Amino acid sequence: MPNLSMQAVIIAVGDELTDGATVDTNSGYLSARLVECGIATRRHVTVGDDAAAIAEAIGGAAGQARLVIVTGGLGPTADDLTRQGLAAAMGAALVEDPRQAERIAAFFAARGREMKPSNRAQALLPAGAQAIDNDCGTAPGIAARLGEAEVFVLPGPPQEMREMFETKVLPRLPAAGAIAKRIVHTFGVGESDVGEAIADLMGRGRNPTVGTTVSAGVISVRITAAGPTKQAAEAAADETAAEVRRRLGELVFAGDDQTMPQVVGEALQAAGETLAAAESCTGGMLGEMITEVPGASEYFLGGVVAYANQAKTELVGVPADLIAAHGAVSEPVAEALAEGARRRFGADWGLGVTGIAGPAGGSAEKPVGLVYIAVAGRGGAAVHRHVFPGDREVIRRRAALAALNHLRLALVAAGEPGAEG
Ligand code: AMP
Ligand code: MG
Repeated sequence: MPNLSMQAVIIAVGDELTDGATVDTNSGYLSARLVECGIATRRHVTVGDDAAAIAEAIGGAAGQARLVIVTGGLGPTADDLTRQGLAAAMGAALVEDPRQAERIAAFFAARGREMKPSNRAQALLPAGAQAIDNDCGTAPGIAARLGEAEVFVLPGPPQEMREMFETKVLPRLPAAGAIAKRIVHTFGVGESDVGEAIADLMGRGRNPTVGTTVSAGVISVRITAAGPTKQAAEAAADETAAEVRRRLGELVFAGDDQTMPQVVGEALQAAGETLAAAESCTGGMLGEMITEVPGASEYFLGGVVAYANQAKTELVGVPADLIAAHGAVSEPVAEALAEGARRRFGADWGLGVTGIAGPAGGSAEKPVGLVYIAVAGRGGAAVHRHVFPGDREVIRRRAALAALNHLRLALVAAGEPGAEG
């Protein structure tokens, strides 16, 4: 997280949260909005509807951060105790705010409903705190000072919470600078390999902060820079993103919200070249990925799912004796699939994929996860052998992504523009 002086602790209150009936979405929303304003969240705390626990959480948070935001427990029922918890943390009595009592009375009068004493209790505030008007419901929010910390209490219902945060709290937060984010996507090695190459950049307490996430074999490096201005933050983020790209080289295929199929599509389009595929174990997933990009018809001529041996022979011309000699999952068959697709469709590039997705069908020699991927181009074909970890779904996804990645690298090697992410 950005290393800024302004830090926040967010406290979610409610038994429904601690007993698992409701998932706390308020804290994530608030953290995401705060980070956009240059405020880092130190921790999320969740407590049940218990005045002592709420008081302890608020008191602890005020000692750790200059901004404390509490959501929930402001309702009219006996189990809503955030007001009491805040008062206890402040060592203050609860007193009625006459303006809020009037607002609540008017809210009920306007709807022709009777106001219960419990609704009136919503106008109680710890002495020294200020009410924050609620334009969506009856419970006002609360703003208070506790030691060095500014404390804001917002209603629990996500809609009301968001409305009050955006219109009443956000404008009161001190300008804490700006944040810029960059993502650098890599494919082809493990998270620890990527981590080792950029270990010094990932050290705690640095700005920009650098972290990694993993999804289906894609290791993404996330960069978050804080700066006094938007421009300074953007420049710092760009500089670190460039350093990450320099260190990871060819492993990098894309940035930010770009995807592998987009990058490969752009490279093919830039080169004015076309692609065809013959897939076995991926069963069409490769074609699906390629065609998720709008305009893929510019470069993707088509593909076949050549699943049975006979289909491999009849649809893309894989010689039956080649399959008999080496097995369907083999280097020569992958190559024949890629060459066959290229020839049948009249494409510049052909991709061939054959493997064992499991869970059954593996052997010591050909384990589950073994996938051969061939890329055929004008200069001949190259075959790559992989043993992917994971279940059937993961193996198939990785195989399709790896096929696109091998094509990307072949385009880079052929000097095609646009293939370097
Ligand atoms: P409260 O203000 O505590 O009366 O909360 C009213 C309702 O808002 C609860 O019953 C939940 O459905 C919802 N709610 C409260 N806190 C959260 C939260 N942190 N995340 C999502 N929903 C919440
Ligand atoms: Mg509640």
